[in-house]
Formats: sequence, C-alpha cells, structure tokens
Amino acid sequence: DRINQCLSALESWNKTSRYSGCISFFIIKSNLDENYNKKTSVYNEKMNFFYYQIAIPLPIKGTFTYKSKVFLKNGSRAQVSFRNKKVMGIVIKQIKKIPEYKVKEVVETFNENLVFESNEFECLIWASKYYHHPIGDVFSTFMPKLLKDNKKNLAAPSNLGENKHTYEINLENKPSNLTKQQHNAINNLKTTDFNINLINGVTGSGKTEIYLDLTEKKIKEGKSILILVPEINLTPQLYKIFSDRFDGSVGLYHSKQTPLQRFNVWKGAKSGEVRIVIGTRSAIMNPLKNLGLIIIDEEHDQSFKQTEGFKFSARELGIKRAQKIDIPIIFGSATPSLSLLKLVSQNKANEVKLTKRVDGQDPPKLVIMDINNQELNSGISNESFNAIETTLSKGKQVLVFINRRGFAPLLECLACGWNAECNSCESSLVYHKVRDRLVCHRCESAYGKPVNCPNCGSDKLELFGLGTEQVEEYLAESFPGVEIIRIDHDSTRKKGAIDNIYKKLEDGAPSILVGTQMLTKGHDFNNVSLTLVLNADNGLISPEINALEKVSQLLIQVSGRAGRKDKDAKVIIQTRYPNDKTLNQLKQGSYFAFSEKMLLEHENLNLPPYSCASILRATSPTQNNNLNFLNKVKNLLINKKNITSIGPLPSFVAKSKGSYKHSLYIQTNSRGYLNKVLNHLDQEIEKTNEAKKVKWSFDIDPVEYS
Ligand code: ADP
Ligand code: ZN
Ligand code: ZN
Repeated sequence: DRINQCLSALESWNKTSRYSGCISFFIIKSNLDENYNKKTSVYNEKMNFFYYQIAIPLPIKGTFTYKSKVFLKNGSRAQVSFRNKKVMGIVIKQIKKIPEYKVKEVVETFNENLVFESNEFECLIWASKYYHHPIGDVFSTFMPKLLKDNKKNLAAPSNLGENKHTYEINLENKPSNLTKQQHNAINNLKTTDFNINLINGVTGSGKTEIYLDLTEKKIKEGKSILILVPEINLTPQLYKIFSDRFDGSVGLYHSKQTPLQRFNVWKGAKSGEVRIVIGTRSAIMNPLKNLGLIIIDEEHDQSFKQTEGFKFSARELGIKRAQKIDIPIIFGSATPSLSLLKLVSQNKANEVKLTKRVDGQDPPKLVIMDINNQELNSGISNESFNAIETTLSKGKQVLVFINRRGFAPLLECLACGWNAECNSCESSLVYHKVRDRLVCHRCESAYGKPVNCPNCGSDKLELFGLGTEQVEEYLAESFPGVEIIRIDHDSTRKKGAIDNIYKKLEDGAPSILVGTQMLTKGHDFNNVSLTLVLNADNGLISPEINALEKVSQLLIQVSGRAGRKDKDAKVIIQTRYPNDKTLNQLKQGSYFAFSEKMLLEHENLNLPPYSCASILRATSPTQNNNLNFLNKVKNLLINKKNITSIGPLPSFVAKSKGSYKHSLYIQTNSRGYLNKVLNHLDQEIEKTNEAKKVKWSFDIDPVEYS
C-alpha cells in the first residue's frame, strides 16, 4: 500500500512541474509516515511490547516504566536509558495496562539467570518498604559492580575450577573433644527450619568451634553457609580457620576486594560452586545456592548497620532472609545487643549460654582507677605507668586502648582562641604527627600545620587532647627497646598490615599495643596480661540512647581480648567517674547480669528496642533549609497520637563535607504504626516546598542518634 502510494506521488511529480510534484510527494510521504507510525505503534503496543516497572540504580523514589519486545522476568537485569544515560535496572514487575504516555524501550535485555532469585527479590522489596528507601538503590547496593556496568554476563560459564564444591573435612586442627558447654550449645541450638538463635558466650568460650561444627553438618546435608563478621580486618582470620577445616572453595566477600573478585565469588556462590562464604554486611544478600544457615558473629557490633546511603542492618535483613527460605540464623556475641536479648526475652529467639572459657580461666577483673587527683602523662596516670612497667618486666604484653587516632585532636591559639577546623566540615582538625598534617576525620581532607595563627598571627599555637600517635610516642620514649605497635585505621590501611601486626604479637615478645576500637574486635591477644583503658568516660556521660550499651560492650570486649593464658591478667579503667553505676556493675567482668538490668531499664523507659525509632535526616548548604524542613515535618506529626518527636537537632558534627546536617527523631510504640506514619510522611513531604531545598532520608533503627 505504502509503496503504491509513494509511487503515485512520484508519478504526480513527473506529471506536474518539478516543484509542485516535489511538495506533493513530501506531503503525501509525511502523511503516510504519520499514519504508518500511528498504526504500527498501536500494533506494537498491542502485539509486540511488554511493559515493565524497572528499578533504576539511583537513590530516586519509585520505579520507571519501560517497554520490551521480549518477555522479562522479575529480578532480571534490563539496561535502560534514564536522563540520557544508560543505567542497569532491575525488572520489578510487568504492567498489564498499557500506559497512556510515551514509554521508552529498554536498551538491552539479558538472556541469563536472574540477578535476584525470587526469595532474594522479595526480601529486598521488603527492605525497601521497611527502611523507606528507594527500591532501585536497594537493589543496586547488592548487585556486583561488573553486572551494573554491563561488563559481565551471568550466562557465561564460571571461571572457578571443577569440583571445588565438594568439601573434605580436615581433621588436623579440629579439637578432639568439644567442651561440655559447647556440646550443650550445639544440642540446644535450633538448626532446622527458620529459627533465630543467639549464642551468648563469653570471649574465648569457643563460639567459632561451634560455627565450624554447624557448618560441617550443613555441608554434609548439601547446603551452603553464609558467615558474617563486622570488620574486613576480621575476614582473613576466619577465612583461614574455615579453609583449614574445609578443603574446598571458601569465598570472601567484602568491599575492599576488586570488582572482579567480588563478581567471581558472587557468581560462584550463585552457581553452587562456592558453598561457604565469609563476608561483611554487604554479603548478607550473597546469592548462595541452597543456603542452609546464616551465622552472624560479633552480632552486637554497630558495623552491621550501614549509616550512609541505604541504611540497612545486616541483622534485620539476615533474619528476613532466613525467614523467607525457612532456614536457621545464628547470632554470636559475648555482649549481645539489646535487640537480640529482647527477642530472647519474648521467646522469639532461642538462646544458648557459654559462661566458661575453653581454657577454664575466669575473665580478668576490671579495676576502676580514679584519676581525678592524678597527674597524667599523655593520658597515662603514674599508677598505670607502674603497672605497665611491672607487666613488661614479667615478659608480658600490654594493651592500651584509646578511642582516637592521630596525635592530638585540637590545635588552638592561646592568644585569640582560634582553632583549626576543616574548611568544609565544622569539625576540629586532628594533628597527625606521622604525616605532619592536620586531618579532618570527617572527610579526610589534610592541611599543613601553620606556624603562626591564621587569625591573629601569634605563634602561641598549642595542641590539646590525646590520640594513639601521642600515646605511642610517649611510651616509646619511656620504654626504649620495647616494641610499641599501633593499631588504628592509619596503621592498618595497607593490605596485609594487620596480619603482620598479629604475627608479631603471636611471637609473644614483651611489647605494648596501642589502639582504637579496632582492638576490641574479634582478635585475641593471648600474651597480653594488662589492658589499660584511657578514655571510656565519653561513653559513660553521653546522652545517646544507646551510649551505655555501646560502652559496656566495649569494656567487656576489650577486657575479653586479653589474658587468655594468665591468671593475673587485669584491666585498668582510668576514669573521672569512679562511682559511676555502669562501671561498678561491670566490675566483675560479666555482661550477663548487667545486660539484664539494662534491658529492663529500656523496657521501663520505653526506649528502643521496646519502642520503634527512626531519624529523619536532612542535609543542605544552609542551616535554615534544614530547620524549616524538619519543623515542617514536625508539624505534620503534631496531631498524630502516640508519637514522640524530638528536634530538629544539629548533628554531632553539624557541618560535614560542606553541608549542614540536622535530624528529627521520631519514635512510636509499634512497627506497623511507625511504617504507617512514615508512609504518610513520605507522601506529604513530597508536596512541601521545604523538601525541595534539602536532601532527606529516613534512618530506621538508628545506631547513631546524633
Ligand atoms: P570465641 O569465639 O568464643 O571467643 P574461640 O572460638 O576463638 O572463642 O575459641 C577460643 C580458643 O579455644 C581458640 O583458640 C580455639 O581454637 C580453642 N578451642 C575452641 N574449642 C575448643 C575445644 N573444644 N578444645 C580445645 N580448644 C578449643
Ligand atoms: Zn590567634
Ligand atoms: Zn572535613
């Protein structure tokens, strides 16, 4: 038809003058084209295209509609053009009703396995709703980069060797007998079907051996096992333990790996070639085939909660995942979180206790040292100094804990009061002597150290406060010949650095270990017989809701690291609050009794985990934008029942990376109600003008309250 009409148009061109013929040709052609397009598009829409909601890997709410000539499965990849850029989306669902508006076609579809199998897919849909976070960003968080960048295909064969998925049990390092408590624990854990278990066991009670035992059983059943630890630094240690025991592929999965390493483990796990995966929080959705058990070690650790971007907790997501596929999940800790202890108290989690160390030793006693009237040198009192000396002379090691890296956290002008602050964050710069730089611990910007005050020109600039470098320097001067080893984010940045440090310590030569929070995580220092805690006071006096939970966990963890082979091991806590209730309750080194009291207190005061907390966080270049926005939201809540809202409050560091941060705390009594309220807010906020001037997000079950 079309050709005939074109031909007749050409004929008329021939018959008439060249000019008018030309015009009539184009008129006819354009009419034809329009008709053709109309007809074919209707035809296509009816016959050839499927329509889909697609989640875009950006922090933008909602999904976007695209069409495709081929049928797409939910949870598969689809590359689409979004704001003139190609991005890799995930198919959320097919739309049966053809949209009225113009819809773009997907750029590329993939004939391969699903990126997210239905269980994982549903889990993430749940997470997006629970955390009130954009769905595309949720999926993107758990999709390997190489798949997002379209550099890899899931259909291609894997590059792992053959037969790695059979696992021989290596008996060499296996203890000949489990302890009685380990036996009891294993018998009492609920390891079939969906069950939440808590191994509440003091440090050194042999929890890892229990994990190994359970893993062995699941391997023999043909299942796969996922094990999470809070810190990347802890993965090599556990990786070694598991690869020593299981002769087969053990996968590592964390953010310091290359995209290719991550992809290979991810894919190997998905295909069933790798059946044991050890990782950090982002591994919680690792697509292990035939997953039969999830283990989350050091469960109390705040690092399981992501505090930027998609603010999920691997703990919650783990429970949801286990529930979806009806498998057990096991949490282990010497200092369980209140949220798990609450589940235990409500019979929603099954607790087994290990009260004794494998070696039969009692945990070291905590000694509370009043430093109010003592002279301090680099934060260390004379009494503590003497204790260090005595310990070293016995050939033992000392551990000094201080929660700040760098040399000194404040550079101040004595003449005018100026102090060094980051240009883009309102936070004091920390002097790092090793690098001779002032460093912002918020954004890592580094500045030269001025000789004269930039404000008044005076040369009376002085450093205040204490960091690991200063303690290290002071101890090195005081104990020449003794090796001082610093463990913080600066000294362990290089790959393998932490392993070298651990190796050195295993030698057992007298030495002093100076470190931050990193010291308290997972690793045991067998030859340490004195632990010195320099500044726990901040935690004791902090108004944060979870401050006491954090500081008590920290003190028990730090004391549990030491003295494994030493009856005289002790832990000195220097404090200006020697009568503090928490400190005195913890003195016996037992977390069991203390945590019970703390839980009761939270219940009586209706604090989380007995109430449901969320924080609305706002960021913008001006304080007023934030305050206007948060006050507006607070007003939206005013007539609602049973809601506590506190704020707006500036963040602990109110300005960071050039923007101001403020927050509004919102608390309700039930999860369902919180969800309802936040859904309502979600919609109302979009309508306000104030929202356009800030970046905002919800933080559900926050671990940082400021
Ligand atoms: P936790 O994880 O509870 O702190 P670990 O699992 O690290 O404790 O165990 C502490 C130490 O005891 C480790 O060196 C481990 O090899 C050893 N151990 C564990 N169970 C046994 C056992 N049944 N017999 C002998 N040694 C054991
Ligand atoms: Zn000055
Ligand atoms: Zn900064």
